[in-house]
Amino acid sequence: MDEDKPKKPFVLEIPNLEVPLTDQKPLKAGDRCPKCGEGKLDYDGTLSLTCPVCGYKESGCFT
Ligand SMILES: [Zn+2]
Repeated sequence: MDEDKPKKPFVLEIPNLEVPLTDQKPLKAGDRCPKCGEGKLDYDGTLSLTCPVCGYKESGCFT
C-alpha cells in the first residue's frame, strides 16, 4: 500500500484577474493635476507630464 504517498489532484486555479479600478487614466497636457487639482499638467523636457504647482509627475507609461 502506498498510503504515505500524498495523492493531490492537480487543480488548476485561475484567479480572477480583475483589474482594480483606480483613478489612473490617461492624462494629457493641459489636464488638471490629479494630485493637487490646481495645477495644469504640461510636458517637461522628458515628455513627462508635470504639475507646476505640486510637482506631480506623470510619465507616459504605466507599469
Ligand atoms: Zn499638482
